[in-house]
Amino acid sequence: MTDFAEIESQLKARLVDLLDRAEVLEDDLRHPLEADSSEQAIDLADDQALEGVDNVLREEIQQVRYALARIVNGTYGICAKCGEPIAKERLEARPIATRCIKCA
Ligand SMILES: [Zn+2]
Repeated sequence: MTDFAEIESQLKARLVDLLDRAEVLEDDLRHPLEADSSEQAIDLADDQALEGVDNVLREEIQQVRYALARIVNGTYGICAKCGEPIAKERLEARPIATRCIKCA
């Protein structure tokens, strides 16, 4: 049984950081669309740019939460594809990895 305490604290710190950034972006997205079509087009362009960043953030937040859940339920560090343990060096480099280097 490998101890993932260090990775777990890294993931938790990462999650706090990601949520901070996501909150800022969500505030920016909250402004309503204007009825005027030209203004709406500008708003949509702005939102699309933000949405792209936001989706990446959102996805990483989910991956970090998933990794933390796997630490709790004891499946962390096991390849989701072949069931072999994922190398510690790989987990340290990429704590949210769900597959070993061969299956990635
Ligand atoms: Zn594998």
